[in-house]
Amino acid sequence: MKQVLKTLKIKSLNNGVSTGVESWAGSGKVLNSYSPVDGQLIGKVRQANREDYDKVIENAKEAFKVWRTVPAPKRGEIVRQMGDALRENKDALGRLVSYEMGKSLQEGWGEVQEMIDICDFAVGLSRQLYGLTMHSERPQHRMYEQWHPLGIVGIISAFNFPVAVWSWNTMLAWICGDVCVWKPSEKTPLTAIACQNIIQTVLKKNDIPEGVSSLIIGDRKVGEWLSNDANVALISATGSTRMGKAVGQAVAARFGKSLLELGGNNAIIVTQNADLEVVIPAVVFGAVGTAGQRCTTTRRLFLHESMYEEVKNRLVKIYAQLRIGDPLDMHNHVGPLIDTDAVNNYKTAIANIQNEGGKVLCGNEVLTGNGFESGCYVKPTIVEVESQTSTVCHETFAPILYLMKFKTLDEAIELQNAVPQGLSSSIFTLNMREAEQFLSYAGSDCGIANVNIGTSGAEIGGAFGGEKETGGGRESGSDAWRNYMRRQTNTINYSTQLPLAQGIKFDL
Ligand code: NAD
Repeated sequence: MKQVLKTLKIKSLNNGVSTGVESWAGSGKVLNSYSPVDGQLIGKVRQANREDYDKVIENAKEAFKVWRTVPAPKRGEIVRQMGDALRENKDALGRLVSYEMGKSLQEGWGEVQEMIDICDFAVGLSRQLYGLTMHSERPQHRMYEQWHPLGIVGIISAFNFPVAVWSWNTMLAWICGDVCVWKPSEKTPLTAIACQNIIQTVLKKNDIPEGVSSLIIGDRKVGEWLSNDANVALISATGSTRMGKAVGQAVAARFGKSLLELGGNNAIIVTQNADLEVVIPAVVFGAVGTAGQRCTTTRRLFLHESMYEEVKNRLVKIYAQLRIGDPLDMHNHVGPLIDTDAVNNYKTAIANIQNEGGKVLCGNEVLTGNGFESGCYVKPTIVEVESQTSTVCHETFAPILYLMKFKTLDEAIELQNAVPQGLSSSIFTLNMREAEQFLSYAGSDCGIANVNIGTSGAEIGGAFGGEKETGGGRESGSDAWRNYMRRQTNTINYSTQLPLAQGIKFDL
């Protein structure tokens, strides 16, 4: 890890505030970053205070005045170089993501690959920020719409995708002409500093104004400053529904824009027409991957009664064989939870579901002893439930899978939709009618609905996000770029008259 930290320019005490080219020690308290892998201190960060924050915003405002005048394809060229810089650092950054957050090394590298992919996507997009043209009802008039940059985009991110979510936002915002201020999770500050260090080399080389990419490390207070700040045109916030409610209300109160990516409670429906050889790996990866700490983790499994026992028994057998341990060791399937608070949430949820009548089929254990010194390793758990009690309806960010039986597809879809969240969903079936019903207006109410693949592991090309308490935001692919721009409708009169719309007469 020493070599990784050196490559990424992470020191034992790091500056927590940076305006792209300049970085300075924050004036706030020191934050320690411990690894959930082995409980070791990785590094410290000097956090920001309000004065630091104000300085960052002033620099960002100045940078915007310059950045918005750079042609979009030229901004794309800068993002292309950022993609190359990330390629050069993929191994080291992926390892740090894995060590600081606790996800498997494969997923750590995957997260960096996702950042590279979004850079490529954004480069292409930088020549495609299309607006429409319309036919005017008036002679010798032309109408069209164009898209302009918004200004400062504030990004509040969660611990579980400590770097990819930032890149989904920044790479698009940058080609759109915005400048970005990032408040990463206080649980993963070092991966954020590593990203800023990588980006800085590109900004410096190209003489880009300071403030195009700012980083400001601190706790939720910094998130609140951003949410309440009228200088920040858009807040893109990823995290819990509790956080999203607070941010959404604060931003709405000042008529700002918000893009909310919040909690999920994702389900898979397995019908009697499913191919179980595809179902089993999808369910296991969806439920235990990233130790159940993905917003798209499979938390609920609806099984047709005809195969309920078979799938249940196969899952319990596989869970017994899962290797839990150091996520940097590629032989292991399941790494740690982020911290001991998350372990407590796991224990509380299992105790609650048992009180509500749930039957634990396997798991329900916090691991101790050699290799588990951090106290963050838990056994993935399967619980059989008869109905969706309050614990089932709540997102517990841990590897707990609830099994339920159904008779008809109508019933399964209704159950699937009967939770407050609406992020990701899947059906496993080889029957075309069942698949189409699930995808129809009368089917899944989620932002993501899949057929014969699991709920997690989205590609960057699609718009990502969900409905209801998931917040309604869409990021990444498709036309999500429009969130980062403002639309302007233009009407141009090249005649010698002044005809009014709707034929209104106004004679002088
Ligand atoms: P969290 O809500 O505790 O924290 C997320 C971020 O919000 C952190 O940076 C935190 O400092 C900040 N924050 C907290 N309260 C705030 C407030 N009142 N005002 C402003 N900022 C505030 O979430 P977490 O534990 O880091 O992440 C896990 C959650 O994130 C889960 O619910 C998961 O489903 C969700 N998530 C959603 C998506 C998605 O795309 N829908 C992606 C990843 C994670």
